Amino acid sequence: MAVWAADVGGTNIKLAIVDRGRILRMREIAANPAAGLRRAMDRIAPVWLELCAQTGIAEYAITAIGLAIPAIVAPESGKIWAVPGGKFADAPKFKLAAWIDKKFRKPAYWCNDAHAALAGEIKYGVARGVKNVGMITLGTGVGTAVVMRGNALTGTHGLAGNAGGHNTIDVGGARCRCGNIGCVETHASSWALAAQAAHSPLFSQSALAAEATITYEAVFRLAGKGDLLARQLRAQSIKIWAITAVALIHNYDPELLVIGGKIAQCADVIVPHMHKFIRAHCWAKWNVPVRPAALGNEAGIKGIAYLAAKDAKRSR
Ligand SMILES: [Zn+2]
Repeated sequence: MAVWAADVGGTNIKLAIVDRGRILRMREIAANPAAGLRRAMDRIAPVWLELCAQTGIAEYAITAIGLAIPAIVAPESGKIWAVPGGKFADAPKFKLAAWIDKKFRKPAYWCNDAHAALAGEIKYGVARGVKNVGMITLGTGVGTAVVMRGNALTGTHGLAGNAGGHNTIDVGGARCRCGNIGCVETHASSWALAAQAAHSPLFSQSALAAEATITYEAVFRLAGKGDLLARQLRAQSIKIWAITAVALIHNYDPELLVIGGKIAQCADVIVPHMHKFIRAHCWAKWNVPVRPAALGNEAGIKGIAYLAAKDAKRSR
C-alpha cells in the first residue's frame, strides 16, 4: 500500500513514498512558505512522480496522498483554519481537495504536522501502544499534539492540543505570528533564534556571529564548547520547552511525553533537563517520562502516510 506523503515544514518539505511504515524513497525540497501552499503543491507534484520513477512504482499503484501541514486543520472537513503568520498564507482559501482531485484523482488526507508526527510515534515509534500521550515538536516553530484514550485531540476546529507553542510565557512579550503575545515560539524556536541572538549584548563576542545561519544545531554545538551566548540561549530555550512540557502535563495528564522535530537531535541534552524541571515544578507528583521521538525527524512523514492509508481504506 504505497502512499505519497509530504511533511510540509516552515523551512523544508519532506516528500516520500511510504509503504506500511517503510520509506521507499525520500527527497527534501525548500518550503519557500512565503510563496504559498498552492505554489508548494505545484512543486511537490513532480517530485512525487519522480520518486515513482526512481522506485519503479507505477503512479496508479499509489493508493493515497497524505500531507502534514503546519496549520490548524478541522478534523472532519479538512478545512484549513489558520497558518503561521506569513507562511502558506493562501492555505485557508486554497481548494486543496479540488487541486489534488484534478491532478491525481486519489484519496487524500491532511492534518496538522504535530498530529502526524504523534501518529507516527504511536504507530511505529516510542509511543507504541500508549493511550494517553503528548508530543512537543521542536522544528521551525514549536508544535504540540495530544492523543487521549487513543484518539487525537482536535476540538471543534482542530486547535485542541496544538497550541502549546502559543501559550504566553512573557506577558510583556512581543506579538507572535499567531496574534498572541510573548508566546513560547517567540522566545524559543528556530524562527525566532537569529533575532534573539543578534539582540544580545554578548553577540559580538560570540562564535555564533560567525555562523552563516544561526540554528539550534550551532547553539548546542557552541554551547558545548563554552560559548557564553550559546550557553545562555540553550539554557533559556530548554527552560521554555520544559515549561511547555509542564503545561501539557497539567492540561492533558499524559502517561508519556514525546519530544520530536529537528531540534530533538539534541535530546540527550534537552530530555534530562526537562525531567529535572518537571520533577521540580509539575503539579503531578507521579513520574511522567519524556522520551525523544524514536522515528526522529521521520515521525511526521511516516505518521501522515499511515493516517492517509487508514483514511483511504475507511472511505473506500
Ligand atoms: Zn503565538
